[in-house]
Amino acid sequence: MTLIGVKMKCAICRNGHTQPGYTTVVLEKNEVTLVFKRVPAQICDNCGEEYVSAAINNTLLQRAQEEFNKGVMLEMLNFAA
Ligand SMILES: [Zn+2]
Repeated sequence: MTLIGVKMKCAICRNGHTQPGYTTVVLEKNEVTLVFKRVPAQICDNCGEEYVSAAINNTLLQRAQEEFNKGVMLEMLNFAA
């Protein structure tokens, strides 16, 4: 997963172009694992590399911190919900 802001040519394979889609992001901290489903991302149509914007990443980290504070061990979350 690479952070990026705009639709663009893929930086990994330098061949494909990114398309809007969804990805799954897993965040781990100590013993806690959070799985975010349906995270908006730009996905390379050639190699499948996923790019998540800085804004989405910030939201992810904020929501993750809330979950970490709840003391969960493993949580599946729907980002789009
Ligand atoms: Zn690519």
